[in-house]
Amino acid sequence: MPKQVIIVGAGPAGLFAADKLAGTPGLEVILIEQGKRVEERRREIDFDRACGVAGIGAYSDGKHIFDTVFGSRQIGTNLTELGVDDKEYLIKSKQRFAFFYVPIFGKMPEITPERESRAREIATIAGKNDMDYILAHDYHIGTDRLPELMKSIQDSLEKRGVQIRTNEKVTSFRHGTVYTQDTRTRVEGSYLADVILIAPGRDGSIWLEKLLKAKNIEHASRPIDVGFRIETDAAVLRHLTDIERDVKLEFRHPNGDMIRTFCVCPYGQVSKEGKNRKPELGGLDFCLVNGASSSVHLSNNTNFALLVRMPLRNEANNANWGLKIAEAYREAGVDKIILQRMGDLIQERSSKPGKVHEWRIKPTLPESDYMVGDVRIGMPARIMDSIRYGLRKLSVPGLMEGLNQDSTLIYGPEIKMHGIKIATDSYLQSTSMPGLYFAGDGTGFSRGIGGAMASGIRAAEGILKQLGYDSK
Ligand SMILES: Cc1cc2nc3c(=O)[nH]c(=O)nc-3n(C[C@H](O)[C@H](O)[C@H](O)COP(=O)(O)OP(=O)(O)OC[C@H]3O[C@@H](n4cnc5c(N)ncnc54)[C@H](O)[C@@H]3O)c2cc1C
Repeated sequence: MPKQVIIVGAGPAGLFAADKLAGTPGLEVILIEQGKRVEERRREIDFDRACGVAGIGAYSDGKHIFDTVFGSRQIGTNLTELGVDDKEYLIKSKQRFAFFYVPIFGKMPEITPERESRAREIATIAGKNDMDYILAHDYHIGTDRLPELMKSIQDSLEKRGVQIRTNEKVTSFRHGTVYTQDTRTRVEGSYLADVILIAPGRDGSIWLEKLLKAKNIEHASRPIDVGFRIETDAAVLRHLTDIERDVKLEFRHPNGDMIRTFCVCPYGQVSKEGKNRKPELGGLDFCLVNGASSSVHLSNNTNFALLVRMPLRNEANNANWGLKIAEAYREAGVDKIILQRMGDLIQERSSKPGKVHEWRIKPTLPESDYMVGDVRIGMPARIMDSIRYGLRKLSVPGLMEGLNQDSTLIYGPEIKMHGIKIATDSYLQSTSMPGLYFAGDGTGFSRGIGGAMASGIRAAEGILKQLGYDSK
């Protein structure tokens, strides 16, 4: 009898786990996905945009980040917490990614010596200012070209015997069995499983957490990042964004809180988070800020998130805490994203709506989406202190000199969740239910496509090991 492995969720984590397991003699791999096949997904349909083979990664910005060149940590993975060498797994995922990438797009571009030497200078300045500058191997494919790549992965898996069951939602699982429902007919079904791997993505984390609670599977909350979106002249960051669009600088407030730049959008637009996003906060009926870069509509500004990590205690629920902050803004009468000019924040007064036309830096967020006022209105003082400290600290020659000026714009709140933290062994196998593995963003082991792939590979190696195969 072949051993049966059931993988739940065909995002980057599930796909790369299946890729590792595919073709193993005596192993039947079934990948269950609630959405459609890659070629059937339609970007304009909300459900298709987030769900289907290739997961939310199918319509992401298409930036694949792997191992770092500079910096004290890897990006988008939490594998080190398990004592795993995360760089090794990011390199493994880069190699498998190259296997699919090269036949379609040609040789993967390397970091040029010129870019590396300029990045080294930035890293030196950052170090002198007690900051960490992180630069990783990254490959930007573009949203439009991603489906072709993802389809080639899907087709390759099927050729190697992986059964992909689309339009089937996993409703529950227990030791040895996975329960499903057809998303079109509502007909219920089940699969026997020697091993189960759960990789439901961020949108599936609420479903997963409910099941973990119900089944007493040990887990806790991860930290939460809270802060603001900062918008300034593109020229202030140009020497940094020319090297790497998503400039990653990290440092600590003297009180120990970690402060970081995130999601830098050169020549971009500040945006409002879409409706129905943030399922972990119960969907959005309040406003959160975000940013985007378009290859067509370039602005004169660059925006980025400046975030403070709040290490909540184990028993705390980070989603509830984030929700309370968002609600504090709403309860204060803020029904849009709140916008303040830095000069007014420094003077500790509200910005005035009637003055926006006089501001040197013009907001790129549409007027209908913001409310001019005081960004402090719903923000805990500890985070405000760290944001002020962070703005000053970043505004040094060679880094973001000129950031800490009156004209800089501050939008809020911005809230990023890191999901749940499940108790597992180093192969991402639950310590409460043997034979149950986890991977990807929804399980808290990754925060990006490269990291999701890396966690999928690590979990698949654990499965092979458990079933008596050579896992390497
Ligand atoms: C707008 C946007 C842009 C992004 N851009 C980038 C980027 O440029 N670079 C980057 O590295 N990251 C980016 N990300 C993040 C990236 O997409 C994710 O980190 C990555 O897709 C996570 O992979 P995953 O496999 O864990 O989950 P997902 O990609 O979310 O896939 C999970 C899959 O599981 C399925 N599923 C969930 N529950 C069930 C169930 N019960 N039964 C059956 N199927 C289920 C879902 O339908 C989904 O297809 C972006 C995210 C968004 C939202």
